[in-house]
Amino acid sequence: MYDVNKVREDFPILSRKIYDKPLVYLDNGATTQKPRCVVEAMVDEYYNVNANVHRGVHFLSQKATDLHEASRETVRAFINARSVSEILFTRGTTESINLLAFTFGEAFVHEGDEVVVSVMEHHSDIVPWQMMCERKGASLRVIPMSDEGVLDIDAYRSMLNEKTRIVCCAHVSNVLGTVNPVRDIIRLAHEIDVPVLIDGAQSTPHFKVDMQDLGCDFFAFSGHKIYAPTGIGVLYGKEEWLEKLPPYQGGGEMIKNVSFEKTTYNELPYKFEAGTPDYVASHALAKALDYVSALGMDNIRDHEQELTRYAMEKLAEIDGMRLIGTAPDKDAVISFLVGDIHHLDMGTLLDRLGIAVRTGHHCAEPLMRRLGIEGTVRASFALYNTKEEVDALVAGVRRVAAMF
Ligand code: PLP
Repeated sequence: MYDVNKVREDFPILSRKIYDKPLVYLDNGATTQKPRCVVEAMVDEYYNVNANVHRGVHFLSQKATDLHEASRETVRAFINARSVSEILFTRGTTESINLLAFTFGEAFVHEGDEVVVSVMEHHSDIVPWQMMCERKGASLRVIPMSDEGVLDIDAYRSMLNEKTRIVCCAHVSNVLGTVNPVRDIIRLAHEIDVPVLIDGAQSTPHFKVDMQDLGCDFFAFSGHKIYAPTGIGVLYGKEEWLEKLPPYQGGGEMIKNVSFEKTTYNELPYKFEAGTPDYVASHALAKALDYVSALGMDNIRDHEQELTRYAMEKLAEIDGMRLIGTAPDKDAVISFLVGDIHHLDMGTLLDRLGIAVRTGHHCAEPLMRRLGIEGTVRASFALYNTKEEVDALVAGVRRVAAMF
């Protein structure tokens, strides 16, 4: 039995008040709150272990290195990658995709080539590719979607050709909640030997992801969206691809030997990890992954699916409600507008009731353009949210709607 009230006790911030009202935190798509075990792991490491990793012979440096590298193994096991060589620590999804877009572009993209993205990508899975395309004289092709927020797989199939170099797609849309058919997307690209990047920022926190089962070539996610601290994320890459990519940033750690004439590079994964890594955050990320694993990713998915279904149903009953993103396969993200109430007004007034939602374009301006809107109100759920909080949201939205 998944006991959400017991789970909530692990998150001290959830018991605070906002404007004297109980906090209802529904901005989990932007970032999640942190359980005690994650914060305590960071404090403990700073108080008892802290030393720079990899270069030290002394006790603390070795201990910090052991924790950092054990965390890499925890990440590997969590996403079922084949090897720790395939796990690169980055600052988050954005840095993971920038790393890949730059290095992949250097190695494989030439004038006239094409990069496929979907219309529902977050800016961080558009702009790095666009920058690379500008540098290389390549162009973006965009997979369209239906009004419900389902990608058009036939259109995708027809845009794959001999000029396609890579396909990049969100696992789950941060605006619509659509769970994209990434297996089909990967299979079709692989039929013509094109690699695929899956942006897992909004999937990894909500259900089990398995690299060997999915078969994608690259996968990116952020620690802070899965109960870990900010400043740490992961780029997974199949070893055979990572071996072929040039380094990203230069500096310490990513080298084997340096002379003024020539530098040789370190082996995987260190070739892509220049400079001092955030070894405290990597350790805390492992603690967060242990935490969700102990709760069970399937239990988390079931709990959040139930909340999503319940919230969709209750919100739909409100007069003037427009739910944006109604794909059959939908995860814990709900975007909406009510009548002609501006999303900012709705968000601001909900905040006065202690309800934290996000408003705006959610870093997906091309998607807003496709939908013909400027922005939405977005409620996004986490493992600690409750039906009572959904009720508070629904009551809050009704109250704001009645004011207009
Ligand atoms: N991709 C998706 C789908 C996201 O939702 C986000 C963040 O909201 C990102 C990428 C960027 O993540 P970060 O800001 O942690 O790098």
